[in-house]
Amino acid sequence: EAEGAQLNANTTASKAMYASASQHLAGGVSSSYQLRDPWPIYIDRGHQQTIIDVDGNEYIDFHNGYGSMVQGHANPAIGEAVAARFPLGTHFGMATEDSSIVASELAERWGLAKWRFTNSGSESTMDAIRIARAYTGRDTIMKIFGSYHGHHDAVMVSIGVEYDKIGPREHPASLAYGGGIPQAIVDLTIPVHFNDAETMEKRIVELEAEGRKPACVIMEAVMMNLGVVLPEPGYLEAVREITRKHGIVLIFDEVKTGLTIAAGGATERFGVKPDLVTLAKALGGGLPAGAVGGTEEVMRVVEDHTVYQVGTYSGNPLSMAAARASLEKVLVPSAYEHLNHLNERLLAGCQNVIDKYGLPGYSVGIGAKGCVTFSPTKIIDYPSFKENQDVELSELAWLWNMNRGIYMTPGREEEWTLSVTHQDADVDRYIEVFDEMAAAITK
Ligand code: PLP
Repeated sequence: EAEGAQLNANTTASKAMYASASQHLAGGVSSSYQLRDPWPIYIDRGHQQTIIDVDGNEYIDFHNGYGSMVQGHANPAIGEAVAARFPLGTHFGMATEDSSIVASELAERWGLAKWRFTNSGSESTMDAIRIARAYTGRDTIMKIFGSYHGHHDAVMVSIGVEYDKIGPREHPASLAYGGGIPQAIVDLTIPVHFNDAETMEKRIVELEAEGRKPACVIMEAVMMNLGVVLPEPGYLEAVREITRKHGIVLIFDEVKTGLTIAAGGATERFGVKPDLVTLAKALGGGLPAGAVGGTEEVMRVVEDHTVYQVGTYSGNPLSMAAARASLEKVLVPSAYEHLNHLNERLLAGCQNVIDKYGLPGYSVGIGAKGCVTFSPTKIIDYPSFKENQDVELSELAWLWNMNRGIYMTPGREEEWTLSVTHQDADVDRYIEVFDEMAAAITK
């Protein structure tokens, strides 16, 4: 279908900005994930659930800054907190009271006693892994094949891999994601597949026998970079049991799930408690903030100075003021009721369309997050995703949405994130646009 060929909104100002930005901003953007074909769209402003690009095109935002803006754009509660903090000074390289208040709120929500702040998800997972390594005295780590945990060397492993390079199910390949990552670091990261606790335990036993027992398993409780892949019943409980039995630190990377799927993230939603949790994205409500939380026992390596958990901007006063306002005034219980209501409506509406037109796919989601997965069979892990995802249909759906004012993440593997400012009319519009696409392709 010709519709699928390219963006047809008037994006000439973005095109011109791309040309001029590319002169000194490498590739015209500040993160390679901001690139899109044929050129990136430059955003001018956002208000609540709406964003407007430099050409004046208006979109309903289902991208929400990779899931960071669950509070909606320019949320007044966060704006007021930031505005009140600014005249008092924005950075001292010393703690402010807000960081203590945010830490106690997170401790309450996650049931984990001790917290430290960072500036991003990558810093949080890097620190969590270091804490786990120091706590156990081991170098090897285990991760889920295909999961993204940020851009530091230890976790830029076994993601975005072609189907024929995944390797055998029992021993999937450790592969660097892009250049500049030392092989010696890659070799320390052992991937296993999601939703397969049995093979995880077998691999752990093998590694133990080789004297390479992992310090930690780092994972998302819900895989969020293959659309949305939910844990099968009993899987998280089994992983908890296995890691406890073998003395391995369990890290839930809740950079995406934290504060979006429930007040206390996946930890609350599934009732399985890890030893360490990492947060970022929605924590700062649009300002850079990340966190590592953990049990008294594991976090002791930070408190006794075995691990230097440090950072000039960590616990930055503006970020902490924003996080405090977000937790106290925005991401309160009623927010999750609203998000759950919207997502149920959106997921059910999309599933109706799929059933009505007999599309190969299904809708899936949790909390503020969801997607339509175009696959004739259920995706449970990375191999099933690579084998079955209908790439053409996923690409078409992305373009179809973008061309009709539904803003999606650049990555076709990403899910939508709703915000507290979305309304029924916004999700109904999404369903309507999806229905039009389904009608057009099945005509
Ligand atoms: N962990 C997960 C699960 C993520 O999805 C991401 C980013 O998408 C990160 C970590 C890294 O976060 P950041 O981009 O803030 O460094």
